Amino acid sequence: MGIRHKITANFVKIFGKPRIEKLIAKQRSTSEIGGVLLPTSNSPIRFEIPFEMLNLIQTRDDIEMRHMFPVRRLLSVIKNIHLSVDSISENPINASTQTSPEFQEKLRKFAKFHGVNLLEFVKLPQDLIFQNMGVLFDNAIVLAMEMSKEKIDKAASQETMNMVFGTYDDLGKAANRIAEFLREHGYAAQADHPLGGLVLFPPLAQKAGIGWIGKHGLLITPEFGPRVRLAAVYTSIENLPFVDSNDHEWIDEYCKTCGVCIKECPPQAILEESVVHETGRQSNIKQRECFEYFAQYYGCSICVKVCPFSNAGDTYERLKAVIEKPK
Ligand code: SF4
Ligand code: SF4
Repeated sequence: MGIRHKITANFVKIFGKPRIEKLIAKQRSTSEIGGVLLPTSNSPIRFEIPFEMLNLIQTRDDIEMRHMFPVRRLLSVIKNIHLSVDSISENPINASTQTSPEFQEKLRKFAKFHGVNLLEFVKLPQDLIFQNMGVLFDNAIVLAMEMSKEKIDKAASQETMNMVFGTYDDLGKAANRIAEFLREHGYAAQADHPLGGLVLFPPLAQKAGIGWIGKHGLLITPEFGPRVRLAAVYTSIENLPFVDSNDHEWIDEYCKTCGVCIKECPPQAILEESVVHETGRQSNIKQRECFEYFAQYYGCSICVKVCPFSNAGDTYERLKAVIEKPK
């Protein structure tokens, strides 16, 4: 082990890991708030990405911080995850539960101003809350932010990784601002950061009709394909126009004819046959294999790059026409 790696490993041990452990403990403390929604026995276990990143940096001298995250952005992500939990205490005591279509429009405009490209309302199923976490309300506002096609096309590269991590950070900040905006208008809210969220976002966004989960386990949207990051805000507002339908199921059929991501994934981490859990939730990725490659090669993102839905323009309609063509 070289001297440089020894210094980094010590830094991770003394400063990095305790900081992340503290953050995870704070997020878990949400499960102790009175009256929160808790996970069920069918809920997923969260893969602790920031902690696992530091583990790799500490134990492997071929993996460096610059391969995984821009430090400035990581610090901002940590700050905003703390804020998402700390700001719960600022919720109004007698929070409003009803809203008007005019306010919903104002909320959409506010979110757009903060860089959110897609927004829908959906009821949160408790089966999607990660083990050990707690959520204040099942009234969810799902948010999606586009990742740059130009940078995704350069995957795997430092430039791609900076953009991907930057999108996580920007969306996390937007989620916190939306929660703050709701509080200012008399509603209670809880922001859920896109990196290290309390809930499994792709199936939640699928339930909200925003897109469909592809073979690579990522949400494919008509507007941007899988080039999106997802987050949520949970709120006391009970009369939102909650969606529970989806027009994108045909993507399943398309994936069966495609399989490009399965072939192109360097560590072969994408499963040919998805694992279907009791609740209908699917697992598509061998997480450990994906993560180790991701950590070594600038956050990888090759499955996003090669997915035909990542192309802009009329791709979604063109691919749909292929599936709907009479045989
Ligand atoms: S990010 Fe890379 S390693 Fe992970 S599933 Fe996608 S292509 Fe495979
Ligand atoms: S690359 Fe092909 S198989 Fe993989 S998610 Fe995209 S469309 Fe589906």
